[in-house]
Formats: sequence, structure tokens, C-alpha cells
Amino acid sequence: MEKIELKAYGKINLGLDVIRKRPDGYHDLDMIMQMVDVYDDIVITKNKTGKIEVKTDTAVLSNGKDNLAYMAAKMLMDEFKIKDGVNIYINKRIPIAGGMAGGSSDCATTLMGINQLFELGLSKEELMERGVKLGADVPYCVLGGTAIARGIGEVLTPLPAPADCHVIIAKPPVSVSTAYVYGHIKPLEITKRPDIEAMAQSIKDGDLKKMASLIYNVMEDVTVGEYPIISEIKQVMLDNGALNSIMSGSGPTVFGLFDDKEKAQQCVKTLEEKGLTQQLYLTKFHNE
Ligand code: ATP
Repeated sequence: MEKIELKAYGKINLGLDVIRKRPDGYHDLDMIMQMVDVYDDIVITKNKTGKIEVKTDTAVLSNGKDNLAYMAAKMLMDEFKIKDGVNIYINKRIPIAGGMAGGSSDCATTLMGINQLFELGLSKEELMERGVKLGADVPYCVLGGTAIARGIGEVLTPLPAPADCHVIIAKPPVSVSTAYVYGHIKPLEITKRPDIEAMAQSIKDGDLKKMASLIYNVMEDVTVGEYPIISEIKQVMLDNGALNSIMSGSGPTVFGLFDDKEKAQQCVKTLEEKGLTQQLYLTKFHNE
């Protein structure tokens, strides 16, 4: 095999709680992760130069050694002493620095791609063990689907696919750094938290309305004060019939869950008319 083409899916957090800051500086989290059908295309081609070259379709992203796809390829190719090089092309659709783990997903998908392309024979678990060294969300991105994620995000419990629904993903034209959010969150002072166990149960029961009523992200309280556009987008979603709407990850991307496709389509129109978003997708959960 000389070339492999893959899809790197983005995630949303149906629930996100920050439990405590750990002595090592990381935070212990309690989350429900859900992949959505918004993906980056990744094409990996072998070359004879011995170099790893990354190209993307966007100028805002590094083509260099700090691209997570580069780091993933380098990690495995060094470990397995592979003499060939690779060209990695990434077509970005997942909002960058949007709270959808786009970089982690490109990283996880590149690990899987290099594993297949060079027939390294690593299992999913072995890829996840390596992936966590590159990012806390990388093991989940290898696993995919729906999962409870604890620890820094690497302690994973898979869940069945939730009941089907329509999902609007709306990225406002603002940037929020993950470091800013973690720097401002005070885990001991959080008064409202998501009920992750109840949410997991509603997913197992296939109870969409219950699940939607429970979605909650404690990081939103930090970002909303700074970026009121997040609340504005949520309000448009709710006014247009969303079962519920919250921010994903450290933001600023907002998502809304709809059981009615026409209402979701109308909501997309309204968001477009109001010019509140930079990237906008009407999509579905992705479970394979
Ligand atoms: P998370 O939800 O895991 O906090 P995020 O969705 O907020 O992540 P990402 O798009 O994953 O943010 O990227 C965060 C940073 O990682 C970017 O600002 C970028 O500098 C860096 N990065 C490195 N490689 C990539 C990549 N392939 N795609 C996106 N970002 C990348």
C-alpha cells in the first residue's frame, strides 16, 4: 500500500465537568464525548525522501513539527525505525481551536493511518497508549463513538450510540484558548454540574429528550462572560426548537440537538441571516 485516505471526526461534549486541579497542573474531568459527522480528510502517501511533510488547506495551521499529525507520524516512524518518509495532506473542516478536538482527531487518525500503511500491527489499545503522550483527547479519538471520559480524558468507558437526532454545530468568529479557560475555572466554586451518570443512563435507554435535558458544560460559565455571542447562538437554537444547546469543550463552538429536521434547517437559516457564525454545520452523531 502506497497511500491511505482517512476521515478524522470531530467531537462534542454532551457533558463536561471539571472535578479538580491536580498537583501536576492537569485537571481531572468527567465528560461524555460524542463524535459527530464533521470530519477532516487526511491523505497519507509514502515517499522516498525519509521526511515527514505536512500540508493543510489553511494558512492558520502550522505545516511544521508542531502539527499534531506530524507528531503522530514521527512517534510511530521513529519507534519502528521506518526509512521511508510520508506526505500528509489535511483538509480541515473541524473548527480550529473550537473545542471539538480537531487537532487530537488528526493526531489519532494519523496514528491509525501510519499503523495501516506500514502494517505495524498495533491494536487500538496500543495506539491509545501512545496517543495519550501527544494529547489527553487522543485516546478517545482513536476509540471514537460515544464514551465517558474521566481522568484527564484518557480513562474511557464506551457507551452505545445515543438516540438519533439532528445536530447543529455553530462556531462563532471568536477564538478561545483552552489555556485561558483552564486558567480561569475554579473547580471548587462550581455550583451547577452535569449529572454524567444520569446522562449515560439516558443514552443507554435511547431517551433523547432526557439526554438533551441533561447536557451541560461547566466551562461555559467561564467563556460566556467573555464572549456573549455564545449565549446569543444558544438562544437562537432554543428559539428555533432545539431540545437543548450548549458549548462544546473549551469553546467557542456551540451545538444544538433537534428531533425535527425542518426546525434544524430553519435554525441554520436564522443563524446565517444573523451572521453569528464563521462555520456552520447541520449534521448527525457519528457512531460506527
Ligand atoms: P480541544 O477540544 O482538544 O481542546 P480544540 O478543538 O479546542 O481542542 P484544536 O483544533 O484541536 O482545538 O487545536 C488546538 C491547537 O492545536 C491549535 O490552535 C493548533 O495550534 C494546534 N494544532 C496542531 N495540529 C493541529 C491540527 N492538525 N489541527 C488543528 N489544530 C492543530
